Amino acid sequence: MSEAVAVTEVSPQAARAPLSSAVIGSSQPVCPICGTARGVRLWIAACSPKCRAALSRRRRKDAQRNRDEDLLTLLETALKKLDEGNP
Ligand SMILES: [Zn+2]
Repeated sequence: MSEAVAVTEVSPQAARAPLSSAVIGSSQPVCPICGTARGVRLWIAACSPKCRAALSRRRRKDAQRNRDEDLLTLLETALKKLDEGNP
């Protein structure tokens, strides 16, 4: 009966694998700052006030960078128009 032994050897790993993949999987909401699982608190963007502050800081920085990129694109377009000369 070597089959029974093989099954008992495999089962602990098999039972552990779905658990870890569930935490990594996208179905489980995690804190975008520290990566901690947020559990069922879906209405909270981050796991703690500290992470929430960091998240809003990061969002503000992203918005600022997007704005800078937009301005740069507009500026480049304006300079290109100037380089083209007067019509
Ligand atoms: Zn966090």
